[in-house]
Amino acid sequence: MKIHLDTEKCQGHGRCYSLAPDLFDCDDLGTAVVVIAGELNDEQLAKAKLAAGNCPEFAITIGD
Ligand code: SF4
Repeated sequence: MKIHLDTEKCQGHGRCYSLAPDLFDCDDLGTAVVVIAGELNDEQLAKAKLAAGNCPEFAITIGD
């Protein structure tokens, strides 16, 4: 499983990089950036799900 981020939807609320700073950072405009490439381990998957569930714009999805 991998993180997919729709930067068109992201409004820079910052919840993802506050909740999961190992997985997300932000650019100069506050838009989220995924900082991990490839398959998620179990711990990372749990954090990714937490971030996805707290994104008010539904910009984060997890899938293949
Ligand atoms: S929580 Fe969602 S809207 Fe907010 S910065 Fe992260 S991806 Fe963007």
